[in-house]
Amino acid sequence: MGIVIDCVAIGEELMKEILEETEALKAKGIVPGIATLLVGDDFGAKMYRGQVEKFCQEAGWNYFNENPPADITEAEVIEIVKKLNANPEVSGILPLRPFPEHISDSAVINSIDVNKDIDCFHPFNMGKLALGEPTFPPATPSAVIEILDRYARQYENVEPKDFYEGAEVVVVGHSNIVGKPVAFLMLNRNATTTVCHVFTSMKGNLEKHTKGADVLVVAAGKPDLIGPDQVKEGAIVVDVGINRVKVLDENGNPVLNEKGKPMTKTVGDVSFDKVKDMVKAITPVPGGVGAVTNRMLMKNALRACKIQHGLE
Ligand code: NAP
Repeated sequence: MGIVIDCVAIGEELMKEILEETEALKAKGIVPGIATLLVGDDFGAKMYRGQVEKFCQEAGWNYFNENPPADITEAEVIEIVKKLNANPEVSGILPLRPFPEHISDSAVINSIDVNKDIDCFHPFNMGKLALGEPTFPPATPSAVIEILDRYARQYENVEPKDFYEGAEVVVVGHSNIVGKPVAFLMLNRNATTTVCHVFTSMKGNLEKHTKGADVLVVAAGKPDLIGPDQVKEGAIVVDVGINRVKVLDENGNPVLNEKGKPMTKTVGDVSFDKVKDMVKAITPVPGGVGAVTNRMLMKNALRACKIQHGLE
């Protein structure tokens, strides 16, 4: 079996570093802080808001919860952002989408101070990422890189630079928040980078590309999209996908819980059990990229805090 990369341990190591940096800032009288902006009550966004509040508490940071009702006007939302921009206790602002339809994502995002844009939503920061000079590389793509950097040092005994340069990297998914920024981060490291998406699959070409990957990063949100036929023997696979699926018995029927409802479990986009023996390394789901993502967001918030206090 290939190496199952212990992303939970990576997340814990990062948290230790974050706590040390927090103490050093507190010794200077500075406390980092994150504000979330959730408009209305979308379920997924509410879950994420709770996570951000929890990790701010764990780190001893300030947390600010902006949660106006769904019928607020766009102009009023932008006024909230301006207030957060001006608040010196807010190091980073995190808009939690989806917003209600009458509120434009880009109008809100463009009003965020670029030095508080800790998940790289603002076009200015995305532009810097594309140019290879990111201030705040977005959290999930950064988690992919952090995991691979640590894997390269620990298991391949090479510096990340040598790991990426000329490597055949294939990214499945080209969303603005995961696939595209992962591809930029790979290109910035001189990997030979191929990006696949739904149209690649529709043309029947997915396997042709993924089979050639030394490093395969999958972020499509499709369970079992990648099986043994799509993976090269000895590849390194990072599975970003998070999907809830029904638990099935050996006959393919849903397993029911005590209330008679189908039981569910979390899986990635890669058929883990079917590929784990043919790869060199793989990240699991759950306990994979997600265990590192929040920590990368916190790292960005620390950086924002330092920039705002003239420490960087
Ligand atoms: P998204 O916006 O839905 O994008 C999915 C991407 O996958 C799109 O580019 C889509 O292509 C592509 N795709 C869909 N079906 C495909 C197929 N059959 N073959 C090839 N490409 C296909 O999703 P996202 O926000 O990027 O998230 C992707 C996954 O990562 C989701 O499961 C999400 O839950 C997970 N996620 C995990 C973390 C974490 O921390 N672990 C963080 C964020 C997201 P088109 O655009 O051409 O349709």
